[in-house]
Amino acid sequence: MQLQLHTITIEDLVPADHFLRKLDAALDLSFVYEMTAPLYSKKYGRPPIDPVMLVKYLLVGFLYGIPSERQIELRIQTDVALRWYLGLDLFDAVPDHSTISQLRRRKPKFRKVFRRLFEEVVRQCIEKGLVSGRLVATDSTHVRANASRASEVLVEMPEEPGAYYDRLDAYEEEALKQLPPKKGRRQGKRTQQLKRKNRRTKKRVSITDPEAGHMKRPGKPEGPHYLSHQTLDTDHGIILDVTVTSGDASDSTPYLGQIEHVHRDVIPIQAATADAAYDFPLAHEVLLENDITFYVRPQAHFDCTQVELKRDAFSYDPERDCFLCPSGKELRLNTLQRSSSSLHWVYLADKRECKACPLRERCILESNKRGVRTLKRNFFSLRLTATPPAGTPRSTVRRSSSGRSGARARLPRRSGATT
Ligand code: SF4
Repeated sequence: MQLQLHTITIEDLVPADHFLRKLDAALDLSFVYEMTAPLYSKKYGRPPIDPVMLVKYLLVGFLYGIPSERQIELRIQTDVALRWYLGLDLFDAVPDHSTISQLRRRKPKFRKVFRRLFEEVVRQCIEKGLVSGRLVATDSTHVRANASRASEVLVEMPEEPGAYYDRLDAYEEEALKQLPPKKGRRQGKRTQQLKRKNRRTKKRVSITDPEAGHMKRPGKPEGPHYLSHQTLDTDHGIILDVTVTSGDASDSTPYLGQIEHVHRDVIPIQAATADAAYDFPLAHEVLLENDITFYVRPQAHFDCTQVELKRDAFSYDPERDCFLCPSGKELRLNTLQRSSSSLHWVYLADKRECKACPLRERCILESNKRGVRTLKRNFFSLRLTATPPAGTPRSTVRRSSSGRSGARARLPRRSGATT
């Protein structure tokens, strides 16, 4: 037998059209050096592992669906293409998997590198014309936390204000100016919300992973989870932004912040779409203000009133800004109520008229201590009331049964479909 001697390099072993060669040519990671420079000491310690190599180490794990850092290390040891991509020669030692976990533990700022990497990829997609902002879609997906249900305990904690508590301040100021002057004792602002601040609530918290939240949704697994909220451009399915929340957050919680960030910092959005979980009045208002057409599946609304005369039995008179009850009496605008994510006008009937009304038993519950019928209307849905242009899909139309006259003044700013 005659032995043959070959002279080869790792460069010869990776095919010219290999995916990692294309990735290497397309994705410039030189910014990693600039970003991580302050994290390394020039004077002390042993020479570090190349930070770009560490980024690529995790990147190949994501790209090839390798679920653990231990397995990434094993795979790089035996896969020539992965070695080539990381800049390792055939016999170079692969960085130990514990390097990555220590990096996470000791240098939390390194995480920003991955955010920047994500933004850089999105920027390149925009540059190549893969993203237009014509229509973006948002949804969330659950990610199981690495913790069992047995690790969850019930913890009492202060009730958090709604996700849009601060955002509602300006709208509330504006709304309060529209209220008719009150006779007698003046009601203070945000009375309802301030009371809520003192309330306490019980939450399931995992002692293994306290940042995860207990998810309980129909058709979804129950237990400690995270939610990954993603907004993508529908042209080519490029994800434009990702926000992670605990599993007990609602889909609407990070929505407005995410949409506004994409619109302002990534690419101007012309239209946005989402499922019924995102159909909340403030979303319509904010998207309208940003000139973004909102295509959303309307949420099913159920009238839970326990009396026979439901809300449908009352008609709204826009001229007088009041409701008319089945007895022909007026329910007048009384006050503004603030919930965790919205504002409502409250209309009240006259107590004396209700007392003498033959329909009283069908209209007011025995347990109603005030003894008057009350109706609420959402502050934002009134502002959004308008006739949509011909051809507007029904799903974009969110219309209340009536509208306050001052509410329509903002609508001409919008050129497209209105809700
Ligand atoms: S009880 Fe009051 S609100 Fe109800 S129908 Fe009679 S007058 Fe109208």
